[in-house]
Amino acid sequence: MTAPVRLRTLDPHAYRPDFPILSKRVHGDVPLAYLDNAASTQRPRQVIQAIVEAYEEHYANVHRGIHTLAEESTALFEGAREKVRSLIHAPTVEQVIFTHGATAAINLVARSWGDSNLHEGDGVLVTEMEHHANLVPWHQLAERTGAKIQFIPVTDDGLLDLDKLDALLTERPRLVAVTAVSNVLGTINPLAEIIPRAHAAGALVLVDGAQSVPHQVTDAAAMDADFLVFSGHKMMGPSGVGVLYGKRELLESMPPFLGGGSMIRRVWIDSFTPADLPYKFEAGTPPIVPAIGLGAAIDYLNDVGLEAVHEHERRLTQRAHELLSEIDGVRILGPRPDQKAGIVSFWMGRIHAHDIAQRLDRRGIAVRPGHHCAMPLHKRFDVSATARASFYLYNTFEEVERLGEAVAECKHFFQRRR
Ligand code: PMP
Repeated sequence: MTAPVRLRTLDPHAYRPDFPILSKRVHGDVPLAYLDNAASTQRPRQVIQAIVEAYEEHYANVHRGIHTLAEESTALFEGAREKVRSLIHAPTVEQVIFTHGATAAINLVARSWGDSNLHEGDGVLVTEMEHHANLVPWHQLAERTGAKIQFIPVTDDGLLDLDKLDALLTERPRLVAVTAVSNVLGTINPLAEIIPRAHAAGALVLVDGAQSVPHQVTDAAAMDADFLVFSGHKMMGPSGVGVLYGKRELLESMPPFLGGGSMIRRVWIDSFTPADLPYKFEAGTPPIVPAIGLGAAIDYLNDVGLEAVHEHERRLTQRAHELLSEIDGVRILGPRPDQKAGIVSFWMGRIHAHDIAQRLDRRGIAVRPGHHCAMPLHKRFDVSATARASFYLYNTFEEVERLGEAVAECKHFFQRRR
């Protein structure tokens, strides 16, 4: 008999000293429990230091100079691109395009690929659980081209209703745009099933990896995604940098989106020829230091190990589900903990999510209230807002216990006032 594979357990206490902000106290002397990681994570000293060093010792604009600083800055920036390539297992570095975030990357695809390929009546298939970033650019594309948007519905359990997929695919959409992990439900979508089915129906697939790349191993080539996007600030990197990965032949066939410096090979007074990949899509000065910071964040993540991160978050989520389910009147949106990532969105009847978040904040617990840029999904579940706790590698079981106690206290507080 083979021994069961034991995943290495991650000790968050070993990493917390790297994150100065996590020892902050709020409202006088209340220790902070930062559970708002799906919105943005915190950065370790190693990332902050890499940013400081880049500015203090190596900074100049990239690619354009031949002086020492320009060469150092370019080497660091291109080094970061290689780190991204390796993280997502992209076949070549030219397929890694730096953008200003996941939103910018999706808009790039909608404008460049969408405008030149979609026509009146062509379909874009999204899901009912998409973040607005993977919805509105397709609405805008539909307004420009006459394309039509259809969606894969979400079941009551918070899973994609894949029974409907075949019927939707018979309409032969040109693109399926799907999130790897829902930023509200935490649902981990079965991309290994969706992508081949979409391809068999002749559609391309764009994967929104904003909530998956920071938390689990990603192999862009193996998953066979045509496009994959994500943001640096959700994985301990700086804000202002994100990534678009694409299949090479697709990226090569697409026209540049933004025009300007760096994205050209030659310019004449009345025309231009575009540069090669990836620069064709990187007009103007790119997010130089944010990309270098993202490279440092990837080093950090690799040291911790993404399998261990995923497993740790799974356990925290399991515990959060147990604790919140014990509180009468609390409803968790989304599937069972074993089907999801480290995101727990909940609501409590008539107690507004903003009141919950405010009450929790008094106890030092940072959660996010609202629709989390997923209004159609909230409408699907007939709730206007939820409170969302979301975890990362530095969160502890003690913090999850505090969350449970604070939500129970919150419920009693508002019940007494009614
Ligand atoms: N997609 C998902 C699933 C997200 O959670 C987010 C951020 N909340 C985005 C896209 C957009 O990312 P950004 O704001 O960094 O562009």
